[in-house]
Amino acid sequence: MSRHIVVAKFGGTSIADAAQFRKISKIVHENPERRFIVVSAPGKRFPEDRKVTDLLLDSYEKALAGKPFSAEVDEIKNRFREILADLNIDFPIEEEIRHLTKSLSSNPKRDYTASRGEYLTAEILARYLGYTFVDPAWCICFDENGRLNMAMTIRTIRASLLPLKHAVIAGFYGADMSGKIHTFERGGSDITGSLVACALGADLYENWTDVSGLYAADPRIVDHPETVSHMSYRELRTLSYMGASVLHSDAVLSASEMEIPINIRNTNRPDDPGTMIVRHLPAGVVKNPVTGVSGRKGMSVIQIEKVMVSDGSGFSALMLDILKKRALPFEYCLTGIDSITLVIRSDLLDSCKDDLFEEIRETLNPDFIGLREKQSLIAVTGEKATEASDANVQVLERLTKEDIEISTINQGAGKLNLLIGVPEERYEDAIRAIYDLRQNMTRKI
Ligand code: ASP
Repeated sequence: MSRHIVVAKFGGTSIADAAQFRKISKIVHENPERRFIVVSAPGKRFPEDRKVTDLLLDSYEKALAGKPFSAEVDEIKNRFREILADLNIDFPIEEEIRHLTKSLSSNPKRDYTASRGEYLTAEILARYLGYTFVDPAWCICFDENGRLNMAMTIRTIRASLLPLKHAVIAGFYGADMSGKIHTFERGGSDITGSLVACALGADLYENWTDVSGLYAADPRIVDHPETVSHMSYRELRTLSYMGASVLHSDAVLSASEMEIPINIRNTNRPDDPGTMIVRHLPAGVVKNPVTGVSGRKGMSVIQIEKVMVSDGSGFSALMLDILKKRALPFEYCLTGIDSITLVIRSDLLDSCKDDLFEEIRETLNPDFIGLREKQSLIAVTGEKATEASDANVQVLERLTKEDIEISTINQGAGKLNLLIGVPEERYEDAIRAIYDLRQNMTRKI
């Protein structure tokens, strides 16, 4: 048995039908180090299709409202039946569906119902691969309030999985001490995969999906953007926070704490190397000074002016207190000599704007308050950018050349870590311009 451990997690589209099960089997058997496999529930096979988890949640909602739910349950049964027939697997699907129907009819439970997609998929994949099935109800430990008990989970995963040669573990859920099922947030199978990788001290966490890694820019805006070969955990967190979603952010957090490399791979193009996410880039990697650009629309920029804001009289602290009291999160806050700039999501600000401004006027007595709406925020990251330390200048110059107005700039110290505010109607132009600049920058080793 190989000493190396690779934990491979397959997402919903990777396991959507029998053909995808075959691809997974080929990928898994190609590398004996892929000993622990984590799976989601079958996702969409085509755009109008429904994810099994969505069908389960719909059936739960209907059962709760006392409405008939057999159409959803039949659709789920038929999806699994098709997979089983095509792969010629013997599995008591009728019996499992009877259990589900009984629980929905007698006492519908949201998390239990939602978890059945992953449970059934992992059972079936384990049979298909000839691997041991592991129910995370035994090893992903929640407390009775649905919070993960990390220490107990790590211990229990180690004890249950390390003695096994190989196993398939259902993603997305676990249980509390009483056996009650709890799920993570949607997309939470990534978290299960990361927990398994961390607990076992895996050499690699592979996250298999339907794209060949992380793009340097949003493919809905830029035509065929390049896939980034390597990026740091920090860069991934920044880009994902700003909208480039491939991996659940909690999954990145635990893997980065344990320094377990994450490799985003494409189940449909298994020869593509994908994106490798690591703490430090390996020597010799050829890297663009700009790793990627992403962003979000729907931002508001508040500017508060008062002479000598930064004179130590606690003006900024009072401002932050006002936001804290209202539990109003902000994207960032910049303090200048005579002004404070706040960037806040417009959907959160809109409902309390008038009250908030009133309170700022009363408490802080500013000289001026300004509001710019319909702004977007663009993140540009580049861990290698110190070697081309004018990368930030080039980005700003390029936006100016394109005649794109810049409403705010936040430049973190050190590496390229820029947050730029631009009007929403120029958002796409700005992303395209920065991506174009990136492609024309000299790559460094
Ligand atoms: N099946 C769950 C969802 O659709 C969890 C996951 O796919 O990670 O959100």
